[in-house]
Amino acid sequence: MEIPYKIYLSEEELPRQWYNVRADMKTKPAPLLNPGTGQPVTLEEMSQIFCTELARQELDNDTPYIDIPKEILDFYRMYRPSPLVRAYFLEKALGTPAKIYYKFEGNNTSGSHKLNSAIAQAYYAKQQGLKGVTTEPGAGQWGTALSMACAYFDLDCRVFMVKCSYEQKPFRREVMRTYGANVTPSPSETTEVGRKILAEFPGTTGSLGCAISEAVEAAVSTEGYRYVLGSVLSQVLLHQSVIGLETMAACDKYGIVPDVIIGCAGGGSNLGGLISPFMGRKLRGEADYQIVAVEPASCPSLTRGRYAYDFCDTGKVCPLAKMYTLGSGFIPSPNHAGGLRYHGMSSVLSELYDEGLMEARSVEQTAVFEAATQFARIEGTLPAPESSHAIRAAIDEALRCKETGEEKTILFGLTGTGYFDMVAYQKFNDGQMSDYIPTDDELAAGFDKLPKV
Ligand SMILES: *Cc1c(COP(=O)(O)O)cnc(C)c1O
Repeated sequence: MEIPYKIYLSEEELPRQWYNVRADMKTKPAPLLNPGTGQPVTLEEMSQIFCTELARQELDNDTPYIDIPKEILDFYRMYRPSPLVRAYFLEKALGTPAKIYYKFEGNNTSGSHKLNSAIAQAYYAKQQGLKGVTTEPGAGQWGTALSMACAYFDLDCRVFMVKCSYEQKPFRREVMRTYGANVTPSPSETTEVGRKILAEFPGTTGSLGCAISEAVEAAVSTEGYRYVLGSVLSQVLLHQSVIGLETMAACDKYGIVPDVIIGCAGGGSNLGGLISPFMGRKLRGEADYQIVAVEPASCPSLTRGRYAYDFCDTGKVCPLAKMYTLGSGFIPSPNHAGGLRYHGMSSVLSELYDEGLMEARSVEQTAVFEAATQFARIEGTLPAPESSHAIRAAIDEALRCKETGEEKTILFGLTGTGYFDMVAYQKFNDGQMSDYIPTDDELAAGFDKLPKV
């Protein structure tokens, strides 16, 4: 069968259920622990931080398929299915015998896959009768996605944005405000922790840890609010499985069998979502795939981190998770511009990696932006820097195939567009981008601060 340039599923072929890969794992991810007691968290404890249904999903290691509520399916129809693209132009330009496919998640205003989980989290918050949610937007895509999701369900969305990003990323900020979010530069006068930091450090431009602490304080001190996270958690991987399920349905329909599946890995949600159903087949012994996580050499949690219990958030309020981590205090060097700066990795992916069921590679950021630029010029789409880690690895794999003559099928996740990352591209275009790789000593300082459990 001739493979079209873009494969779209029809509405009837869209997944109606998410797939929970934990159900097929023989060794389950280690349980989340209450940081106070050191005991596995209960549903009741989890429900104080997360919506009850999301807490239930977080703790569910056994149910393989979970129905996607109709309201979420309706919203998914606005921007799904996302296309599975055969990168004919890239294959030709590289002169490789390999076949390259990518699943493109950037076709929505928030610009990335994060909307897949944002809409689910907003739905369950609404269902529970909550008034709103609080968060910090990370690099901005999560805040944007959550604003869109909250607008759809008429929920209040309070975003604490690190003050320097608030000032330096006016476009992200204004997209969030256009969708109705209340965006506060952090530290702010609106929380106790914010006021304390401002008193101590007047004029500070803020930090991620502080923004998280403010978002959490605002959630727990305001009736009817919860704090939400856009990656790392198993519930987020579950929602993101829609990426993998659509990909698998498209592959099966056209007889495409990927040999290598590649994804960038920050907290692990897009990669986890893309690979889940494929990993399920692998775990059940039905098929085998080479699965590769790609991370920045400047924030190498899988390739150089420890497999240990750590805080999921720099604010140290969420439960402890066992994961590959660089320590919750780890901050990548300031000249790191390529995203994926999270210190740890999803506990599901960490366990799969520890068992040797997937691999990890790290890549340096100038090589990532070279791949991003090459991809933009050949395939047309301007990729997000995060996604470009996967592009780098896919191109490297295709070039290896050119040397060996192997006709491998390579599949990678193109998680988003780079429109809001032009400052990073500018650095690259001006030749100002450098590669920084942390030394063993620098990493050891982070490992020393891991909580003792
Ligand atoms: C947030 C983000 C990532 C990384 O997060 P994961 O949870 O690891 O998927 C990758 N690409 C884009 C475009 C993002 O916005």
